[in-house]
Amino acid sequence: MGILYVVGTPIGNLEDVTLRALRVLKEADVILCEDTRVTQKLLAKYEITGKQLAPYNEQDSGVTAGKIIGWLEEGKSVALVSDAGTPGISDPGTLLVQKVREALPEVKIESVPGPSALTTALSIAGIPAHEFVFLGFLPHKKGRETLFKEIATSERTMTFYESPHRILKALESLQKFAPNKKVIIARELTKIHEEIKSGTPAELLEFFKANEEKVRGEFVVLVNPLL
Ligand code: SAM
Repeated sequence: MGILYVVGTPIGNLEDVTLRALRVLKEADVILCEDTRVTQKLLAKYEITGKQLAPYNEQDSGVTAGKIIGWLEEGKSVALVSDAGTPGISDPGTLLVQKVREALPEVKIESVPGPSALTTALSIAGIPAHEFVFLGFLPHKKGRETLFKEIATSERTMTFYESPHRILKALESLQKFAPNKKVIIARELTKIHEEIKSGTPAELLEFFKANEEKVRGEFVVLVNPLL
């Protein structure tokens, strides 16, 4: 039987990769990637060449879980990575792990931990991180309002991921439902333009409206709990 490795990769700075991750990627028979071109950049930096890369995304395209289970039965070592951070955290991975556990309980599934935007943001936000709720990407419609009401009244730090297209919308919702909360925006973590900005939703809206060039890149939003 093969082994399935679930490998954390950088969220921006390509130096943020563990020695073990590099060894596992070097030795894997197949590397399952969200986007092979993204993973190729990481492999090229560390001169890992000649690997079989296969797209995997838990949806309709890419290799199927059945095919991967076949590889594991043949004894292959398979490494799963996503474009950035930890697979399974708002990224493909969970279903594959579930299916492999069900179909091949004897196969070892090993984590090769690495960065995640969530823990990276929490580590430098300067708000309580001993207890927090992670909401992933917020729904665009159904359940959105309820979540913002929860964010407004939570006694735990609330965190979510947001895209540049929707960050202003999220801040507007926070202004509506949680106007007095301290909000932290962690942007472009580990990259050249890494920035932490904090304030009330209204202050942050004003800042981002005045600095449109900063409504770009990747964002983690953290909301201080009611203390
Ligand atoms: N699996 C990843 C992880 O472990 O963090 C998350 C993947 S999710 C598809 C992508 C989202 O994560 C982005 O939209 C953004 O909200 C957040 N993210 C990823 N990289 C980031 C970075 N360098 N700075 C801030 N947020 C980031």
